[in-house]
Amino acid sequence: YYEQIQQTERLKTTGQLAAAVAHEIRNPLTVVKGFLQFYENDQSFEPDVKRNFSLMVDELDSAEYVISQFLTVAKPDKNKIVEIVDVKVTIQSVKDLIKSYGLLHDNNIDLSIQDDLFIDINSIEFKQLLINLVKNAIEASDTGDSVLIRAKKKKDFVEIQITDQGYGMSEEEIKSLGTPFYSLKCKGTGLGLMICFNIVEKYEGKIQFNSTRGKGTTVTIRFPVHLE
Ligand code: ADP
Ligand code: MG
Repeated sequence: YYEQIQQTERLKTTGQLAAAVAHEIRNPLTVVKGFLQFYENDQSFEPDVKRNFSLMVDELDSAEYVISQFLTVAKPDKNKIVEIVDVKVTIQSVKDLIKSYGLLHDNNIDLSIQDDLFIDINSIEFKQLLINLVKNAIEASDTGDSVLIRAKKKKDFVEIQITDQGYGMSEEEIKSLGTPFYSLKCKGTGLGLMICFNIVEKYEGKIQFNSTRGKGTTVTIRFPVHLE
């Protein structure tokens, strides 16, 4: 329990520091990007040079993405409204979102969701949580493999499970999850699960990883069911 409190404090400090740094860095980045985009369209530059401009814009986009991840962690709680959220409707919209972003590599997302599951949560944060988890599931999967999302009521909780048949994780790897910047991907940020852990904790939920190397992973999240 003590360890859990320490972890929470660490996340809070990380978040506050991140917000300050992110804010200071974002503005100059936007200015530089604006200039680069302007030169990119300037006909007087050689094609070679223009390609470099476009590479620079891409790199700035990556930096901006990392920063926006941080800012979502750091947003003050009072800006978040708790709503009564329909789990089935949200999961369906997350599936559509992931499809429309072109994040799938011929992967199917199968759903097995009970009707009338409601939880008290901010809907944007709930979506962000699901997107991060489903994105990880897809990124761990081979082309063509399916990801299954299940949701059901279990006593006083709504239980959501995301199962992939991807490369899986060792015990050691599971222990490192949620540590800022912990990522085994060459283009990963290692911030996705840190954000997930924050959201789960904030709404008195639970998150658990079951995984076998080479076989796949199931992430289980639970939130208290909405009481009438
Ligand atoms: P990122 O996705 O940017 O690497 P995350 O915080 O989302 O950062 O995930 C951290 C790491 O956890 C990943 O790099 C990966 O090694 C591991 N991981 C997360 N989800 C899964 C999964 N479903 N299957 C296998 N590994 C996973
Ligand atoms: Mg991720």
